[in-house]
Amino acid sequence: MKTVLIVCDGIGDRLKNGKTPLEAAHKPNMDEISKRGINGIMDTIAPGVIPGSDTAHLSIFGYDAYKYYTGRGPFEALGAGVELDADDISFRCNFGSIQEGMIVDRRAGRDEYGLDKLSELLDFEIDGVKVVFKKSSGHRAVLVFKGSNLSEKISETDPEELNSPARKSFPLDETKEAKFTSKILNEFTERAYRVLEKSEINKERIKAGKLPANIVLARGSGKLGKLECFEKKYGFKGACVAGVNLIKGVSRAVGLDILEVEGANGHVNSNIKGKVEKTIEALNSYDFVFLHIKGTDEISHDGNFEGKVNMIEKIDHEIGELLNLDITLALTADHSTPVTVKEHTADPVPIAVSGDVRTDLVEKFGERTCARGDLGRISGINLANILFDISKKSKKFGA
Ligand code: ZN
Ligand code: ZN
Repeated sequence: MKTVLIVCDGIGDRLKNGKTPLEAAHKPNMDEISKRGINGIMDTIAPGVIPGSDTAHLSIFGYDAYKYYTGRGPFEALGAGVELDADDISFRCNFGSIQEGMIVDRRAGRDEYGLDKLSELLDFEIDGVKVVFKKSSGHRAVLVFKGSNLSEKISETDPEELNSPARKSFPLDETKEAKFTSKILNEFTERAYRVLEKSEINKERIKAGKLPANIVLARGSGKLGKLECFEKKYGFKGACVAGVNLIKGVSRAVGLDILEVEGANGHVNSNIKGKVEKTIEALNSYDFVFLHIKGTDEISHDGNFEGKVNMIEKIDHEIGELLNLDITLALTADHSTPVTVKEHTADPVPIAVSGDVRTDLVEKFGERTCARGDLGRISGINLANILFDISKKSKKFGA
């Protein structure tokens, strides 16, 4: 039996006027999964821990986030297509604009003009450390240091505020590796500034009335480390269908193959239909397909209740085909993002799993209904085992 796991990012919510967005939405397909299946709620990391999307996904793939997560950088880098070694130090970056030593815009006016060409100018070699720099989506980029004696324990250069200079990075522990790495980052920031400031692209940007993209602001430093490959851990291959780099990066880190879909952009207007088609096609080659949909989280951060209801209804409409397949089908979230809070919360998320299960009495997919299901309250770290057991992929423990 094959397994499809649908994660609607941040779909879990709280009550507004007596209902959650899931409860307010008309969503016959999601409800059908609950009706046929077994239901519960899930703490993706642990009770009371507010999950990031990256740590939550590590956990629901069965990897201890406390052990493997050092920062967001490596996952962004992998998601942007950079090859990473276990000891490389990665950062996520913004192109920003600096004038007379002060940051005037942390996102270079959110204007992508020429950023790909500028990125090509920033692959330096500093004190034996190879620097890889790559533009990712919008004004964002990734920065990777490859070399020996490096540490992720250094502070960031993004001050996360305006009218401030770029911060100097400093070591966060006493090791010579941290000292060395912060020195490399400071040198990179200065050299990048000098190269960007005098680049033709930035002259063109200024001429066109745009802000220059003349400073690189780095944060989220992290080291990938050695994660056991998904295929080795579970004994079969898995694939990921996602639009956002961070989620692609976490998936790549654990060894899932990334399947690209035209128009899958991680926003509310993403090509969900195409992603569902790709998921179905992937089942010919993979025993596990993970389908990630980001729009529910994006709209929750905006605090838009109606928009979230609409997004849920749109997803519901598109996933219908999956219900016709003879598979283990799981529907859940990586965390709650209540529209009233506009941020991730530690509220457990609903989960429904249809397939060869002992069907419970739950008939609707929602935070409060699923809580009454037979799956009870589970931890995200156990999800993969539960799903793959339902798919008859697990072996007996003991005699
Ligand atoms: Zn998320
Ligand atoms: Zn979010």
